Amino acid sequence: MKKYDAIIIGAGVCGIYQAYKLSQMKMNFLLLEQGSDLGGTWFWNRYPGCRFDSESETYGYSFSKELLEEWDWKEHYAPREETESYLNFVASKFNLRKFMRFNSELSSAIWQEKDKCWKIRTKDGSIFLTRYLLTAIGLLSCPTPPKFKGLQNFKGTSFHTYNAPEKQINYSGKRVAVVGTGATGVQVICAIAKDVKNLVIFQRRPNWCAPLHNSIISKSKMANIKKNYDAIFEKCRNTPSGFYHNFDPRKTFEVSEKKREQFWEKLYASPGFGIWLGNFKDTLSDEKANLEFSNFVAKKIRQRVKSPETAELLIPKDHGFGTRRVPMENGYYEVFNQNNVQLINLEENPIVEVTKTGILTKKEEYNFDIIIYATGFDAVTGSFDRIEFIGKDGVSLREKWENGPRTVYGLAVPKFPNLLTLAGPQSGSVATNFPRGIEEAVNWSTDFLMFLEKNKISYFDAKIEAEELWNDHVTEMSEKILFAKEKSWFTGYNVNVDKKYKGKCLIYAGGQIRFREFITNEKTQKYPSFDKFTTDQDFLEHSGEVTATI
Ligand code: NAP
Repeated sequence: MKKYDAIIIGAGVCGIYQAYKLSQMKMNFLLLEQGSDLGGTWFWNRYPGCRFDSESETYGYSFSKELLEEWDWKEHYAPREETESYLNFVASKFNLRKFMRFNSELSSAIWQEKDKCWKIRTKDGSIFLTRYLLTAIGLLSCPTPPKFKGLQNFKGTSFHTYNAPEKQINYSGKRVAVVGTGATGVQVICAIAKDVKNLVIFQRRPNWCAPLHNSIISKSKMANIKKNYDAIFEKCRNTPSGFYHNFDPRKTFEVSEKKREQFWEKLYASPGFGIWLGNFKDTLSDEKANLEFSNFVAKKIRQRVKSPETAELLIPKDHGFGTRRVPMENGYYEVFNQNNVQLINLEENPIVEVTKTGILTKKEEYNFDIIIYATGFDAVTGSFDRIEFIGKDGVSLREKWENGPRTVYGLAVPKFPNLLTLAGPQSGSVATNFPRGIEEAVNWSTDFLMFLEKNKISYFDAKIEAEELWNDHVTEMSEKILFAKEKSWFTGYNVNVDKKYKGKCLIYAGGQIRFREFITNEKTQKYPSFDKFTTDQDFLEHSGEVTATI
C-alpha cells in the first residue's frame, strides 16, 4: 500500500494548479484522475461547439510570467480543444504528468483515526494512504441523462454532452435531436444547425441567451495582451465575479429611458458576459429593474426570430434575465428561422418515450440518427456523492449533506480531518471565472498546508461553530440576489436526480472579493476556524524541505 503526504483528486484546471503548488513544496503526492488523460471539463465535454465564455486571456493561470509569455490564445473565447491543449502545455512545462495516475476513479475515502490519514480506494481495486486529501472534482462533472422510458432502446447514436464520443461525429446530412436548452444545448445547436439534414430541439423551459461575439486574436492583439497581463489580472481580482466585467454603478431607473436603451444596445453588441455582469448594478437584485432589462432582451428575440409563435416560445416567462446562468450564443435565435429546424415545446408536448428509431412525444413520433442529451448535471455536490467519504466517528459525507452541503468556506468540513475541498460547495471559487477563483482557493490551501507542516501539526479538523457561521453567511448572501429564488443548478435543482435540498443555494453569492477577505483573515489569524492536533506519529515521508512564511 503506497503512502503519500497528499493526494489530489481530479486533473482539471484546479487539480493541475494544486499539483504545481505541491510540486513546489516538494511534497510526496499523487494526483488521481478518473479520465484517461488530464483536462477535466475540457477533456470530457467533446460535444460540438464547446467553448468557454470567459475572455481567454483571463482564463489562463496567472502564476507564471514565463507561461504567460509562452502561450498564445487564438480566439477571444477559446474552444474546448484550445483549452485542452493549454492545460497539456502547462502540465508538460512544469513536468506535472509524472504525478498523475489516470483511469483512477475513486470509490471511497475513509479517515483512519488511529493512523491519522485517509485510506483511498479506486475502482480498479488499488489502495493508497495519504495524510492530506485535496478534492478538485469539479462542480459540473456528474452528468445526468434524463430518465425517459426506453432510453436504451434507441438504435442510432445517442449521448449526454459530457460523454460525447472522442471521435468527432460527422453531422452532415443527419437527422438530429437535441434535448435541453441550457448553455450546453445552445452551443450544440449553434454548432450543428447548418450541417444537419434536420434538427429537432426539445425545449422544456427557455433561457435568456445573449450573443457571445467571439473573434480571432491577432498576433498584435496577443502581443498587447502579453504586455498587459498584470493589469488584466488586477482588474479581474477586483470584480465580484473574477471577470473583466463589473456592474455599472448606476441603478436602472436613475438613468433616462433613452440612455438606458443606448447602454443596453451597447452591451448587446459587446462580447462576453458584460450584458450579465456589467449591467446596471440592480439588474440582478431588483425585480423591477430586472423586468425592464428582460423586456429589452425579449424585444431582441422577437426581432431575431421570424415566426412570432416561435419567438414567444423562446422568451422565458418564468424567470428574469440573468437569474439563471446566461447561455452565450452565436446565431442561436437565427437557427429557428432555418427550414430544417423545429422547436418542440415539452411543456405542452412532453416526451413519452425513446423508441428504437427516435423520440415519441404525446403528439408525434420523430425519427433520428443521433440524439444529444444536453440535460445538465447533478451540479456542485454530485461529484462528492459518487465517492463514499467517511470521516471521523464513521460520519458519511453523503449523509451529512443530505439536506444540503455545510462547510467552512466551502473548503473544509467538520469531522473530515485533513480534507480540503478545493472549489467545493459554498466556496467563492465556484461562482467566479473559474481559474481566477481556484487560484485563490489553491493558494490558500497550500499556505495552510505549509503552516501545518511548519508547526508540526499532524491533523486539523474544521470547527462546527465555524460551519454554522459560514452557512448563515452563505444563506444571507444568497438572499440578496434574485437567482437564489430560481430553479437552476445554482440552487440544487436538477429534475433528473432526487435531492432533498432543492432551493438551497449551493454556491457562494457574496463574490470573490468578500470571499478573499474571509479566507485571508483566516490565514492572518492563524486559522482559528480549525482545531489543530499534534501526535507523535511520523507519517510524512518528505522528499524535500518545507518552507513557510506565516
Ligand atoms: P443546464 O443549464 O442544467 O441545462 C439543462 C437543460 O436540459 C435545461 O434546458 C433543462 O430544462 C433540460 N433538461 C434537463 N432534464 C430534462 C429532461 N428530463 N427533459 C427535458 N429537458 C431536460 O445544463 P447545461 O446546459 O449543461 O449547463 C450547465 C452549466 O455548465 C452552465 O450553466 C454553465 O455554467 C456550464 N457551461 C458553461 C459553458 C461555457 O463556459 N460556455 C458551456 C456549457 C455549459 P429545464 O430548464 O426546464 O430544467
